[in-house]
Amino acid sequence: MSKTPKDIIRDEIRALAAYHVQDATGMVKLDAMENPYPLPPALAAEVAALVASAPVNRYPDPRSPALKARLREAMQIPAGMDIVLGNGSDELIQMLALAVAKPGATILGVEPSFVMFRMIATFCGLRYTGVPLKPDFSLDTEAVLAAIAKEQPALTFLAYPNNPTGNLFDAAALERIVAAAPGLVVVDEAYTAFASRSFLPQLAVHPHLLIMRTLSKLGLAGLRLGLLAGRPEWTRELEKVRLPYNVNVLTQLVAEKVLSNAAALTAQAQTIVAERARLAASLAETQGVSVYPSDANFILFRVPRAKQVFEALKARRVLVKNLDGSHPLLADCLRVTVGTPQENEAFIGALRQATSGTPP
Ligand SMILES: *Cc1c(COP(=O)(O)O)cnc(C)c1O
Repeated sequence: MSKTPKDIIRDEIRALAAYHVQDATGMVKLDAMENPYPLPPALAAEVAALVASAPVNRYPDPRSPALKARLREAMQIPAGMDIVLGNGSDELIQMLALAVAKPGATILGVEPSFVMFRMIATFCGLRYTGVPLKPDFSLDTEAVLAAIAKEQPALTFLAYPNNPTGNLFDAAALERIVAAAPGLVVVDEAYTAFASRSFLPQLAVHPHLLIMRTLSKLGLAGLRLGLLAGRPEWTRELEKVRLPYNVNVLTQLVAEKVLSNAAALTAQAQTIVAERARLAASLAETQGVSVYPSDANFILFRVPRAKQVFEALKARRVLVKNLDGSHPLLADCLRVTVGTPQENEAFIGALRQATSGTPP
C-alpha cells in the first residue's frame, strides 16, 4: 500500500491554508501594495534591449557583483556591512528561518504583521510567538520584552513601517527591543521609500541587527529582488543556505539598469506619498470611515460591516484587501494600496456608494 499525504506530509503543513492571491482581472487593483506606474518609456526601451541580448543560456553569476554594487549605492548601505540577495524578501525570510532552525528554536514577531513571518516559521519547523500590538497598533513594549525574556527567540522580525497597519513603530521602543533580544533581529523595511524614518543607521550600534529591504514596493514587484544588510559574520552564514542561482539573469540585468536610473523610481515614490495624503483626506471625509496614519504606500481604514463593503467594492470592480477576521485587532478593517489619482478617485467613488448602500 502506498502512503497518502496524510502519512507523509507534516501535520503543520497540512493544517495550513495556501497563501491566497485574489484574481484581479479587469479590476482597479489596489490590494497588493504595487507601484501603479510603469517604467518611464526611455528606461523601458533600454530594459528591452538588455533583455534581448541577455545570456539566458548561461547560469547567472551567483555573486551578482554588479547588482550588489548598485544596490549598496541606491540604498546607502554603510561601509563594513555586507548584503545577501533573495528572490524577494520572502526568500530571505525563509533563508533566515532555515539557518536558525535548531530543534525548539523560536521566531518572535508582533501581530498583526506580515503573515509570511509566521508561515515561514511553520514551513521550517520553528516555533512562532506573536505578541499583540496595542489597539492603536503601537508596540506593546513591555509585552514584547517579557516575551523575549521568556521565549529567548533565535530570530525576531519587526516590519518598520508595519504591514498591514502602515505605521512606523516608536524608534525608542524599537531600540529597547533590539537591545534586549538575545538572537538575531531583522527590521523589515519593505516600505522605506514611503517612510519618514529608517532603522538602517542602527546597524552600526547593534551587532545582531539585520535590515531587510525589497524592490517590490518601489515598482519592481515582478522582478523578485530583496536584500538583507548586516555584518559579514551573519551574511557569511546566510550565504550558505542561499540557493546559488536564486537571482536570475534577467532580474540581475534589469534591476541593475533600473537602479542606475533610481531617480525615476524615487520620483514615483514621492508622487505616491503625495497621493497618500490626498487619499487619506478623502477617506477621512467619508461617512463612517476611520483612517489610520500611514508611512507606507497603503492605508488601513475601519468601516462598519467591512466584509460587505469589500464585496460591494469588488462588485464595482475595485479590489482592496479585506482584513476583517484575520486578527481581532483588525475587525472591520480594509487595506487599500495608494494607486494613481484616477484609481484612487475610482476607489473613493465606489466606497462612498458602497457605504451609502447605492446598488452597483
Ligand atoms: C510586501 C512585503 C514584503 C515584500 O516581499 P517581497 O518578497 O520582497 O515581494 C516584505 N515584508 C513586508 C512587511 C511586506 O509587506
